[in-house]
Amino acid sequence: MSRVLTAFRGQWGLTPDGEFKESPWIIIGGNRVLEYGFGKPPKTLFFKPLEEGVILPGLVNAHVHFEYSLLKNKLSPGAGTLNTMSKFITSEKKFDENVQKECAKEDLYQAYYRGTFYFNEVSQDINFLRFIQFQPAFHGNLFWELRGFRTEEAQHKIKELKEELQNKEHIIPTPHSVYLTAPSLMKKIREVTRGTTLTIHLLESPDEWDLPFERGETYLYLKKQNLYERHREIYFNNILPYLHSIGILSFKKLFLVHLLHTTKREMDFLNTVVPHAAWVLCHRSVEFLGYRRRNWTLLGNSPLQMLIGTDSSALASDVSILDELYAIEKKDIYPMNKLWRAATFEAYDYFEIPRQNVQFYYFAGSKPQLESLVKVQKAVPLIG
Ligand SMILES: [Zn+2]
Repeated sequence: MSRVLTAFRGQWGLTPDGEFKESPWIIIGGNRVLEYGFGKPPKTLFFKPLEEGVILPGLVNAHVHFEYSLLKNKLSPGAGTLNTMSKFITSEKKFDENVQKECAKEDLYQAYYRGTFYFNEVSQDINFLRFIQFQPAFHGNLFWELRGFRTEEAQHKIKELKEELQNKEHIIPTPHSVYLTAPSLMKKIREVTRGTTLTIHLLESPDEWDLPFERGETYLYLKKQNLYERHREIYFNNILPYLHSIGILSFKKLFLVHLLHTTKREMDFLNTVVPHAAWVLCHRSVEFLGYRRRNWTLLGNSPLQMLIGTDSSALASDVSILDELYAIEKKDIYPMNKLWRAATFEAYDYFEIPRQNVQFYYFAGSKPQLESLVKVQKAVPLIG
């Protein structure tokens, strides 16, 4: 039986180099993109011409928490990580599950129709992950974030983890951050994980470095909340060598989220020890918390693969990568083709997303530049 093919010819399209070029064409069979090219299309097919506009290969969101969508417009900007986190924790106690799911769905579909088709979703609630997993617009990885810095909480999480491992699902256990995951829990995650992927928040707050020395705001916060305990592995150690020594950096796909306060010394360490890692830039969320990144050049020159994420819509107004790119573009630091590649073709390679699984979109009426694409309220997914 021959497959039904649909083919389109467009005005502008994004190339794997992150540039816009004229005369793109695309061949779709079923729901899969079989071929995408530029110039003269193959003669054997009829190519439906698309009017003025841009064909965009779908964007990848390398870090998102849909579980916090219900806090959209509810947090005050400039409050820093710790104040914001305590707001998260307080509101978690009174989450209405249905509202939470509705808000997540709204964010997911909004991002989908703005060109983002693939997500690294991180949630503390495994049932919430199962909910996200079955949304037709969801494609991507599901990370189950295990928190517990004191031994007691860590033990409890390890027990939960062992129970959940009986289920043969593609849910990937992951730590949150150094200051919310005990060494025993980190080690357990390393030991049991079936996957080869790990995502961790790193150096988002400026005083994470002080934690091993029992000083600074992160330490004081944990202490005050009765969440702190001294661990011999961390105490008077540096964070990166500590993570390395317990094996938590030894993953094939390693997503280091933020790296906001990474200095030259730490970058040298990462560049040497895990040059294959990715760093995830969530620009709007960092600005919302009230921080300013000073290591753009350091990260820009690093062998680490840059990827783009949004964190939650509680910190970034939405989880669309198009809007995230627009905010980064305004900083005028990295060339636009680098940003486009980080959100598309380089992300497909890093995530090992087969090209035929990429969702392509048609942005009707748009000019081949970000500002114009952002103005298109609803892009059209190109499917067979
Ligand atoms: Zn996050």
